[in-house]
Amino acid sequence: MLTDAMKQDLVDANHILYERGVVDGFGHVSARDPDNPDHFWISRNLAPAMVAAQDLMCFDLDGNPVTDDRRSYLERFIHAEIYRSRPDVRSVVHSHSPSIIPFTVAKGVSLRPMCHMCGFLRSAPPVFEIRESAGDDTNLLISDSRLGSALARSLGGHSVVMRGHGLTVVGSTIRQAVFRSVYAEVNAKLQMQAMALSDDVIYLTEEEADTCSSTMDGQLDRAWNLWKQAAIQI
Ligand code: MN
Repeated sequence: MLTDAMKQDLVDANHILYERGVVDGFGHVSARDPDNPDHFWISRNLAPAMVAAQDLMCFDLDGNPVTDDRRSYLERFIHAEIYRSRPDVRSVVHSHSPSIIPFTVAKGVSLRPMCHMCGFLRSAPPVFEIRESAGDDTNLLISDSRLGSALARSLGGHSVVMRGHGLTVVGSTIRQAVFRSVYAEVNAKLQMQAMALSDDVIYLTEEEADTCSSTMDGQLDRAWNLWKQAAIQI
């Protein structure tokens, strides 16, 4: 079972991701069960801003519901297969973060960390191309275990961008996965602005990225508490 604190964080995470513009009617956030690593918790099929504690459901790593059979997210297999393949991951956010999407389709350009809040992006998140797994007539959704597994295999350090679709970010806590999701969107906006000014943009080195990332991991609660308060006003 989720602890009461984790349940509260998972509900808050849904609201924060909406308030910060990372998700809208779509997108989802999950947490691995602290008692059973083969189970994870995520809302029933609902817009994130509408999620309350009673909407959380438990799933196994095949994407089957454990607690009840209310309608679930089509793309829950993203979460299931990442938890299966990455024991270090305890929270996953999947979004259609709008400023990320141009970087998934513009050839010759990669999302790369360019400010100190975004070191978790490391060298550049890989781009998942669903055509390589499922041909050229899909709906682009990760709607079964096979596609979830393909996406999980392409996950870089902490994130993967999905061509024509969005972003999936992982963390060792709910708060870290949310922080990374918010700042991936920030980095994408800043990178587009910098690229409009110059074709020679300076990015973080991998060493800077790792150092910045571990520094920011000690500061997550400051941002979380602010975002939580702002989200309550919605
Ligand atoms: Mn999606």
